[in-house]
Amino acid sequence: MKKKISDRRRFLSSMAQGVGLSALGGMVWSAYLEEAKAAPLILRPPAARQENEFLKSCIKCGQCVEACPFDTLLLAKPGDTMPIGTPYFKPREIPCYMCTDIPCVPVCPTNALDETLVLNEKKELDINKANMGIAVVDEESCIAFWGIQCDACHRACPLLDKAITLEYRQNNRTGKHAYLLPVVNSNYCTGCGLCEHACVTKKAAIYVLPYEVAKGEVGAHYIKGWDSKDERRLEGASEEVTTKTERSKEQVVDYLNDDGGLFDD
Ligand code: SF4
Ligand code: SF4
Repeated sequence: MKKKISDRRRFLSSMAQGVGLSALGGMVWSAYLEEAKAAPLILRPPAARQENEFLKSCIKCGQCVEACPFDTLLLAKPGDTMPIGTPYFKPREIPCYMCTDIPCVPVCPTNALDETLVLNEKKELDINKANMGIAVVDEESCIAFWGIQCDACHRACPLLDKAITLEYRQNNRTGKHAYLLPVVNSNYCTGCGLCEHACVTKKAAIYVLPYEVAKGEVGAHYIKGWDSKDERRLEGASEEVTTKTERSKEQVVDYLNDDGGLFDD
C-alpha cells in the first residue's frame, strides 16, 4: 500500500489544530453548533462515539490524524461544512485501510475515539468491530445492475463475502446471462470505504453513509415470532405496547356507490 503521512497534511493538520483551538475561544459558540448540526454526513475515524458525544469530547488535538500511517484522516478546516479541527475521512479519496492495531484510536486522550467500541470477545482491539458507516449501493448507477460484469467493490472489500456478497440473478432481458449483484451486509460492513474508493463509475455507485444515517431502528416492541431466541424477549415482558390507531368517528362515506347527487330529483 502507500501514503505515508505527507508534509502537506502535517501542515493542514497543525493549521487546523491551531484554528480549532482558537475556534473554541474566538468563534461564536452558536455558529459552531449550527455548523455541527448542518453536517450529518461526516465519516469519523474508527471507534468514534455517537456524533453528539464525539463533538463534546473531541478536543481537536489531531493525534489520531498523526497516528494514521496513511493520509486517510483529515482535520476539518475553515470552509469545510463541519466543526473545525475535528477528524474525518473521505473514502472516495482515501479510505480507511483497516489497520489491525488501529493506531488512531488508543492515542485519543479524551475517549472521543473509544477503544471499548472496537474490542472483540477476547477484549482485543479488532478493526472488524468498527462502525464508521455502512456502504449503500445505488442500483441505478451500479453497472452490475445493468448486466455488465463488475465486482470491483466486492474484490476491494477487506471482509470479502461477508460485508459484500455477490448475488446471482437471471438476466431476463437476455434470458441467458446472469447478473452478479453486490449486496452489503450491514452486520459486517465497517464503513471503511475501500469499496467506494474502488468503484469504477464516474461518481461512486457504492458509497458509505454514517452508521446513524444509514441504519434504521426497529424498536424493541417488534419481535420475530419465527426466531425462538428473539421470542424469548416476551418472557417477563411487563408492559403491553401496541400500535393501535384510533378509528375516525366520522360517518363512513361510500364513494363507490355514491353518485354525488347526480340522479337526485
Ligand atoms: S484504522 Fe488505520 S487507516 Fe483507518 S483511520 Fe485508523 S490508522 Fe488510519
Ligand atoms: S485524538 Fe481524539 S480528541 Fe484528538 S482530534 Fe482525534 S478524536 Fe479528537
